[in-house]
Amino acid sequence: MNTASADLLTRLARPEVRELPAYNAGLSSEVVRQRYGVTHVARLASNENPFGPSPAVANALAGLAASASIYPDANCHALRAAIAGRTGAQAGEVVIGNGSENLLEVLCQAFLSPGDRVVTLVPSFGLHDIYPRMMGARVQMVPVTPALEFDVDAWCAALTNGPQAPKLAMLSNPSNPVGCMLDAQAFRRLVQAAPRETLLVIDEAYYEYARLSPGFPDALAELRAQQRPWIVLRTFSKAWGLAGLRVGYRIASNEKLVQMLDRVRTPFNVNLAAQTAALAAWGDPAHMEMSVRETVAQRDALAAQLRALGVVMAPSAGNFLFLNLQRPNGPVAEALLARGVIVKPWKEPGYEHFIRVSIGSAEDNALFLQAFKDVLALAA
Ligand SMILES: *Cc1c(COP(=O)(O)O)cnc(C)c1O
Repeated sequence: MNTASADLLTRLARPEVRELPAYNAGLSSEVVRQRYGVTHVARLASNENPFGPSPAVANALAGLAASASIYPDANCHALRAAIAGRTGAQAGEVVIGNGSENLLEVLCQAFLSPGDRVVTLVPSFGLHDIYPRMMGARVQMVPVTPALEFDVDAWCAALTNGPQAPKLAMLSNPSNPVGCMLDAQAFRRLVQAAPRETLLVIDEAYYEYARLSPGFPDALAELRAQQRPWIVLRTFSKAWGLAGLRVGYRIASNEKLVQMLDRVRTPFNVNLAAQTAALAAWGDPAHMEMSVRETVAQRDALAAQLRALGVVMAPSAGNFLFLNLQRPNGPVAEALLARGVIVKPWKEPGYEHFIRVSIGSAEDNALFLQAFKDVLALAA
């Protein structure tokens, strides 16, 4: 394409879109294999579950091809009822999405107009920033403290300062990428500081892991006690091992909110395989709990080994660690790739010395630790 038509395209695109950064989704295993000539790839960049989903998922999917010609249930009745049953929500308060990324997108499309104010966390899950900006919202980022903890005072100030209440406040608890969490007391403080007119969005993508961290809040119970709009987001991508099939869910403060979101989402946003697999996985919580327990034990062991080497990090309530390399992360991530280990070098300004490493299988974690020591020339 010549420069003139590229310029034309730039002018045709919405101004918000021209300035959007691309989501940093990382490299595929195949690309790493080819580019670096490695046989085994340790995928530690996307917080995937090395244990995979419940065996019940394979059984449920096996018979599905025959139904592929039928549209999926646009309202995900069975899955919503199952989720409602275990979370104490009404089925009408549950929304299913094509991954929770889809839920975030629909949420921003339904509620944000140009100029609206959104408060979110930095460093953060990229989409908490990208989707609001796509809608033309002004995003105010509240950084974590230098000690890599939630800055509750700064959050309360951001929520209450300014001529108008923020339209939306969105944070992940525990934070991705840092792993820090708001404990029950801090969570209550933040919720109580938030203006009634602000839609509070709590992204609990790592809920199943964080539940094992002492002090993790019962966000649903806390929010249900409030007269205010709120949404809690969870996903089948992490602890339930279904990242490849794309299913997220959200529980909303009331059915009215769900109806708003239903107007915006595509009618068949969750495909048949995704609904079937999620329902089967949800029916086997013991498998999920086993993978979470193993991952948390591996995480704590790896963190202890890294700390013994002098590596600085925050305590993590998720299935990942955020490591301060005290040097630019690009060359380190590249050298790890050459050893077949994919991690996520953080790119947000101020965090270019950090990598996020997911907790994988015991073998992959060991591979990471050895490669990391080699690359940083750390003494054992
Ligand atoms: C992984 C993750 C999600 C999950 O996204 P899906 O689209 O459901 O795979 C959502 N929020 C955060 C903060 C995450 O880290």
